[in-house]
Amino acid sequence: MNRAAEYFTRFIKQKNLRMTKQREIVVRVFLGKEGHLGIDELYSLVKKKYPEIGYATVWRTLNLLKEAKIASEVSFTGKKRKYEHLFDHKHHDHLICLKCGRCIEIVNPKIEQLQEKLARQHGFKIRSHRLEIFGFCLRCSGDKNE
Ligand SMILES: [Zn+2]
Ligand SMILES: [Zn+2]
Ligand SMILES: [Zn+2]
Repeated sequence: MNRAAEYFTRFIKQKNLRMTKQREIVVRVFLGKEGHLGIDELYSLVKKKYPEIGYATVWRTLNLLKEAKIASEVSFTGKKRKYEHLFDHKHHDHLICLKCGRCIEIVNPKIEQLQEKLARQHGFKIRSHRLEIFGFCLRCSGDKNE
C-alpha cells in the first residue's frame, strides 16, 4: 500500500466509515492512473476488472478521496469534471480547453510568488489555490495548419 492509500484508510476510519474491499479497489485504480481523469473514465477502468462495482460506489469513493485531499477537481466545464492526484504531487495550474476539455499543466514561479504577495497585501493566509485559464487549445482554436 502506498502513502496515499494509507492516508486514505486513516481518513476513512476517522470518519467512522469502513474501508470496504470495493472502496479499496476504486482507490487503487484511481491512484494507479496519473493525469486527469473523469468519473466515467474511472468507472470504466474499474468495471473492466471488477464488473460488480457500481457507479455509485465509484462516485462516492471519489468524493471521499476529494474530501481527504488525495484527489482534486481540475475543472468544471459543463459536464467535463476531471480529477487528478493531489497527495504527494507537485503543485501546478491548468489551461483548460472549452471545446475538447484538454487540460494543459502549467507552473510559473513568478505567478506563484505574485499570488502570495497579493494575498499578503490583504493579510490573507493562503491554504491552497487553483489557477484555471479557460479558452481554446491549439487544436481547437481554428488554426488549421497542423
Ligand atoms: Zn499555482
Ligand atoms: Zn481543444
Ligand atoms: Zn493537472
